[in-house]
Amino acid sequence: MTLRGAGHSCDGQTVTDRELLVTYAPDTAAQQVRDLGDDLVEVPAGMNWYGLERYLNRHGRAFPVLTDYMYTSVGGTLSVGGAGVNSVRHGWQVDHVERIQLIDGTGTSRWCSRADHPELFRFALGGLGTVGLIERVVLRTVPYCRDTHVHRAHHATLTELVEHTERMAQRDDVDIFCASVRRGTFISTTGWNSNGPRQCDDECCTIVPDLPFTSHPNSARPVAPSADHVRLWTDYVVPAGQLAPMLAAVEALRDRAPLNGALEMLYILIVRRSLDATSFAFAPVGSAPVSIGLGVYTSVHRDPAASTAIRQVFRDLLERCCELGGRPYLYGVNDLDDSLAERLYGSDLNQLARLRTAHQLEHVNAHLPIAKAAMPA
Ligand SMILES: Cc1cc2nc3c(=O)[nH]c(=O)nc-3n(C[C@H](O)[C@H](O)[C@H](O)COP(=O)(O)OP(=O)(O)OC[C@H]3O[C@@H](n4cnc5c(N)ncnc54)[C@H](O)[C@@H]3O)c2cc1C
Repeated sequence: MTLRGAGHSCDGQTVTDRELLVTYAPDTAAQQVRDLGDDLVEVPAGMNWYGLERYLNRHGRAFPVLTDYMYTSVGGTLSVGGAGVNSVRHGWQVDHVERIQLIDGTGTSRWCSRADHPELFRFALGGLGTVGLIERVVLRTVPYCRDTHVHRAHHATLTELVEHTERMAQRDDVDIFCASVRRGTFISTTGWNSNGPRQCDDECCTIVPDLPFTSHPNSARPVAPSADHVRLWTDYVVPAGQLAPMLAAVEALRDRAPLNGALEMLYILIVRRSLDATSFAFAPVGSAPVSIGLGVYTSVHRDPAASTAIRQVFRDLLERCCELGGRPYLYGVNDLDDSLAERLYGSDLNQLARLRTAHQLEHVNAHLPIAKAAMPA
């Protein structure tokens, strides 16, 4: 059985010729949201972020981290991690989950949190559905702030962009950050939340109301590829300070056919987590409090040879990411063989095997590389 939210992950995670259980039901989900007080809200996993954020804003609240595309399911995004422009302040989406209702292979449903069934909690969030189906989640919210001061900067060179990004990663007073490299342009967006229209002195400042609902000009990517293309996306998350060598690896491979021509954009986010954040087993979280995500987004002709060649480039980049102490973001294209999985996740693979056996989940999402790597030899 394969679990699917909105099906926007990029490497066949939600494709199967067997049973498919689809949770995405944004229209009916909205009526099931429950305000629990104390800034907590209970949400069905099949809701999308667009509907949830609209609901929260109407009640004077907001979710601290939103991705740049909001028509994904709450359950599907929490099953991979969830990062966005606000991650520079608030870390991953999974860092703001209070508890989850998880259904195992016997149909037993249990609430899991940092205190109750903490291992299931640690493995389910960012765990691609390998320890059960997330049915409902309780999320922590923050006060709604309508306006964001957005400062966009064009950088003359990639080196300048890297230096700027690393400087922003050192600061703890920034509310939003992203950067992109596309068609020879190097752009960063830095921002601060503010209630009130007061313009700041910086002449490149624009005050944007309800930023999550405006398209991000320097991050927008096509949701679906054209019919004759496939979308091969991947993101690497490395400790702050390591963006330059990670980008150097991409640049070194840029001229290798077919990356040259297929690469649509590079996208950079900063992720700052609190010091007591949970070390989720498979989410792209490391021990460094501040990390930098580098998204490598390609669009490739429907030709198996071209896809294979791009996957080989990605495999080389993944090696470099591991050497730099980083982790892959598992919603994307990552060829994880058993030995690489072992290097990345170590004893958590054995623990995943134990949890899947104990909760009769061997038949759920068994095609995923982490599930395969966790299978007893
Ligand atoms: C246009 C676009 C922009 C994006 N931008 C961002 C971004 O800014 N930041 C970011 O972090 N990501 C981004 N992503 C990636 C996106 O967050 C992931 O692909 C995410 O998984 C999408 O959610 P989904 O509902 O489509 O999940 P799916 O693809 O349906 O599922 C993802 C995984 O979770 C499992 N799963 C799904 N639902 C459940 C459930 N209820 N319980 C247990 N397991 C489940 C599936 O089996 C699968 O392994 C983007 C993707 C697209 C297409």
